[in-house]
Amino acid sequence: MASDNPLLGDYSIPPYDRIKPAHFLPALDKALEKAEKKFAAIKADAPPASFHNTVVPLDTLFSDIDQIGSIFSTCHNSRKSDEMEKISVALSTRIAAFAKKCFQDEQLGARFQSIPMPADAEDKVLLHKFAYRFKTEGAFKNDGSRLSAAGRKSLNRLDDRLIKLCAAFEGNLAKGAVRQAVPITDMQELKGLSDSMLSAFRKDAEEAGKEGWLIIPKRLQVESLLEMARSRDLRQRVFEALNRIGAEEPCDNAPLVKEILALRHQRAQLLGYPDYAAYALEPTMAGNLARAQDLMDKVAKAALPKFERTVREVCEYAGRHGGPHTLEPYDLPYWSSLCREEKYGYDARKLSEYLPLENVIKGFFETASRTFGVTFSENRSYPRLDSSVQTYDVHDSRTHSFIGILYADIYARAEKTDGAWMDNLQAKSTDRPRIVSLNMNLPRPAPGKPAFLSIEEAETLFHEGGHTMHGLLGTKTRYACLQGTSGSSDYTEIHSNLMENWVHDPQGLKSFARNPAGEPVPDKLLAAFIESGTFAAERQKLLIIQNARRDFLAHSQEPAPNQSASDIEKAADFDHPLAEHIRSYPLTRFSHLFSDPLSGYAAGYYGYLWSEAHALTAFKTLNEEGLSSPQIAPRMAAFYGAGSSQEYNRCYEALNGGPSTPQALLESIGITAGERD
Ligand SMILES: [Zn+2]
Repeated sequence: MASDNPLLGDYSIPPYDRIKPAHFLPALDKALEKAEKKFAAIKADAPPASFHNTVVPLDTLFSDIDQIGSIFSTCHNSRKSDEMEKISVALSTRIAAFAKKCFQDEQLGARFQSIPMPADAEDKVLLHKFAYRFKTEGAFKNDGSRLSAAGRKSLNRLDDRLIKLCAAFEGNLAKGAVRQAVPITDMQELKGLSDSMLSAFRKDAEEAGKEGWLIIPKRLQVESLLEMARSRDLRQRVFEALNRIGAEEPCDNAPLVKEILALRHQRAQLLGYPDYAAYALEPTMAGNLARAQDLMDKVAKAALPKFERTVREVCEYAGRHGGPHTLEPYDLPYWSSLCREEKYGYDARKLSEYLPLENVIKGFFETASRTFGVTFSENRSYPRLDSSVQTYDVHDSRTHSFIGILYADIYARAEKTDGAWMDNLQAKSTDRPRIVSLNMNLPRPAPGKPAFLSIEEAETLFHEGGHTMHGLLGTKTRYACLQGTSGSSDYTEIHSNLMENWVHDPQGLKSFARNPAGEPVPDKLLAAFIESGTFAAERQKLLIIQNARRDFLAHSQEPAPNQSASDIEKAADFDHPLAEHIRSYPLTRFSHLFSDPLSGYAAGYYGYLWSEAHALTAFKTLNEEGLSSPQIAPRMAAFYGAGSSQEYNRCYEALNGGPSTPQALLESIGITAGERD
């Protein structure tokens, strides 16, 4: 009965507290039924086709479907279960089938192609977005000609196969991680690791019914472990275990990578593109491979000499302190972190004492209030999935008008998805408010004790906070599809990266870094943090570039029949004696690229570098003008408020007063103009 299913009734806020897994498919069916009628009406509308009778209704054709999809993904990420996993497959299969039906429809395609180009800039952005969608789904080729019926059939076959291959790739990673788990029974081996890491390893051992500790290699955790573990043997074992994930039978991803790359290439060619990268880069801010590659090359050229000096310095330091003569990739992070600590007197654990969660969240709210003119007030009346989730009303501080709702789900729970992310929970419409969520996985502190963040976690909170502001404010568009963070990730990650700068900026950090007694972070500690920030910082950028080079090479050439995943890695990597130290993802473990058929990171990994360079340049510009100067707030409000509704480069240049250059990024890793010449 409809009344039993809260998703079939009226609501303005999703009834998270009453939804059961069994409610999703009936709710999706109803949304699909409505969309089918709307689709038929668009096709049947009297000719001639116009932007207003065709593209405008297409803009909201998927609104009800997306609403159910968003509620589902929130519940799924919050409470993983086998039942929800099965529903996830069923939902995405039905939605994908409907999308194909619409966008491959001959009649709708013909209508769309007869529409004259609109004059309005926002209308143009929406039209381009749908033109790309028609191509992606296999209606048109890149030159605008129709894909033949046989071509569409081939494309659908490729897509079906890609879905299976990508699911198998992810499955191998999950199974592979468990197979490569490193058991530890001697506490001595774990010296140097943090308490939260130890308790996580202890818990994994208990769950596996083992004594001691169990290290199931996960990328981010391994990165921290490599910096902290005093035992060289442990570092080597865990590092090697991580790199075997996805690279060994029976969970070997190498044949899958090969086939996925071949099918993506075929898919791109079928649509009239020379290769997959040309297809994937078309709707991005970079727009083409050459522009993205140019930034990567400039940064790498300047960063490699600094990296040589860093490695030399760390080697000498390790030599003086009883370390190995030759530093292996699993040694460098550890010795580098010790060297940094001694050189600058910077103690990361001490800084963390000034970053209790409550103050960091308050710091984010105050920064956002000053920057965007908004207020946050807690409102506990909204339905939530867990009692620890906090909900806030967000208002315009000048007009007091209601902007939307922020859900903050900060603490880890056993059944919650790992990592940190922002989600669009609900698009703004005439009868529903905008809702976004900020999600992290901080370990829950003992009752009555505050949770303390590392400086990296504080950055992550501000990063996701940047996405939430883009999501909340980005509704100044006529079109649902162009709201908030719906754009290309090399663009939308600028908004999140930009907010991180308030954590690196001494004034910004000082404004909220206070211990629970209310004492501000001491100037000496703050100075040591800022000064040490550029030490070895080039390695992180080189890692991104190295990964992006692998990604580009894999996706911008016709795969040769006998070329393996490791051949691509060898051909893409820096031809440099230190390349070994800047290798992070073997393609067989590169889930950014291969976890879903048309992953946004496939030929898109460069976006990490691109968005950071643009964010740092903009922050530098804003800082030079004075962060509190009256011209800044309207420009920031315009940049975030436009959502994804304006041409990316133009919108960015309006914020920054011109295009970005690599200079600010290079300065952030300690390379000044003189050193580059
Ligand atoms: Zn992000």
